[in-house]
Amino acid sequence: MTLEDIKKFIFPSRCVLCDNVLPYGDKLRNEYLCDDCREKLEYIKKPTCKKCGAMISSDKDQYCVRCEREMHESFICGFGLLRYNDYVKESLHKIKYSRRKEYIDFYGKMLAKVYKERFRNINPECFVPVPIHSERLRERNFNQSSVLANVLSRELARYDIDIPVDENIIFRKKNTRVLNKLDDKDRKIELDDAFTTNDSSHIEKAMIVDDIYTTGSTIEKVAKELKKSGIKEVYFVVVAVVDNL
Ligand SMILES: [Zn+2]
Ligand SMILES: [Zn+2]
Repeated sequence: MTLEDIKKFIFPSRCVLCDNVLPYGDKLRNEYLCDDCREKLEYIKKPTCKKCGAMISSDKDQYCVRCEREMHESFICGFGLLRYNDYVKESLHKIKYSRRKEYIDFYGKMLAKVYKERFRNINPECFVPVPIHSERLRERNFNQSSVLANVLSRELARYDIDIPVDENIIFRKKNTRVLNKLDDKDRKIELDDAFTTNDSSHIEKAMIVDDIYTTGSTIEKVAKELKKSGIKEVYFVVVAVVDNL
């Protein structure tokens, strides 16, 4: 028995979707998902929106309806791993509120594995996690975007892709309300004056890291601040993109 085996015995792995304890043994196959849940993850497939990475119904279209309606201008484009279905919703919720920090490992590893060439091509100088306010950090103990950015950085290093995490560029100065209960207009109001930045004119290209892309207003706002701080080009990566078919 290795130390890793003993740890697994005391703290068994749980399925990232249903939270059930995974059977011991057969480590590789059962590391993150139980057999029932494997089918429930829906990976984003082409055609996708050239701006936000959401799945679209026809490859004749360039953009999704959401981006056609309101084209965000501060970031260039971004992509996500999964469609935001009810299972993923639940899983991402558990990460934040039931402190299932270890689930982020799975999402970060998959993102690195599936999109390594895209990371290599965009080649950002750093990952910038969407910051949370210090009070919220105290409540939750961790910022899920920051954990994801660190997992991504570590996993991409396995493929010789070097993208460090920079958490000294942008900070949250306002403890915003939980945005997923708000409509787009209220999100924007809530995000006004939410952030503060350090001068970052030495950076050409940065990539924002977050868990979900919903309306894009948070990422747009962060991108806007990053550009004001001197960064020339901003991209984003997320675990899940809300459908907009
Ligand atoms: Zn499961
Ligand atoms: Zn779009």
